[in-house]
Amino acid sequence: MKRIAIFGGTFDPVHSGHLAIARSLVRMFDLDQFVFLPAFHAPHKPDRKPTSAYHRFAMISLATAKDKNIVVSAHELDKSKSQYTFDTLAELKAMYENEKLFFVMGGDSWQDIKTWKRWEEVLTMSNHIVVTRPGYPIDFTHITDTVCKRIVDLRNIDKKDFLKSERQEDAIYVTDAVVFDTSATEVRDDLSDGVLDRTDDVPEEVAKYIEKYELYK
Ligand code: ATP
Repeated sequence: MKRIAIFGGTFDPVHSGHLAIARSLVRMFDLDQFVFLPAFHAPHKPDRKPTSAYHRFAMISLATAKDKNIVVSAHELDKSKSQYTFDTLAELKAMYENEKLFFVMGGDSWQDIKTWKRWEEVLTMSNHIVVTRPGYPIDFTHITDTVCKRIVDLRNIDKKDFLKSERQEDAIYVTDAVVFDTSATEVRDDLSDGVLDRTDDVPEEVAKYIEKYELYK
């Protein structure tokens, strides 16, 4: 049985925080594969002109070219419509029926989890990994007792102890293995001001790609 993590998001653009999460979780959870799953982005989103799915896919692909266990999937992009995590996870479970799946999200997504379609079911459809994110304290007051019982808090635990505490199915792991304070919004804001102030926030290949194709102007 392979161990596969799925990381959904807009990745507009992929940034060093996303990559730090992928690389740490591959090690920490002994993953065979970590899959970036960029979401289709509704072209009529009111706030700003979306970046083409081709560009978002290409940037993740470039940023992970040397990471053997990290890949990018066009599964959601191929559908040309946005869909709920509930529906995506149902499809992925069918695709990977013999594998152990972990769905990855940041602390901000965890805070909003109750706004997700059929959120309690989503949390039982696979294992989950919640990664701490600066500015978004992780707490459990918003979720039900049933869900709370499945939480395995790995903050301040080392890997040996973690492996002992790993449960069979539908655990919700919380980890502070990565604390990386950046967001795609900050990267876009920097770029539209004409400079990428925080160069560590974007891998070099991605920065070059953005420049070449004049994205986020
Ligand atoms: P935006 O600023 O455009 O909202 P973002 O930086 O949050 O973008 P997304 O593509 O929306 O990036 O995020 C995909 C996933 O990555 C989400 O689960 C989000 O919580 C998580 N994530 C993004 N950045 C971080 C970070 N710095 N630390 C922890 N999790 C993060």
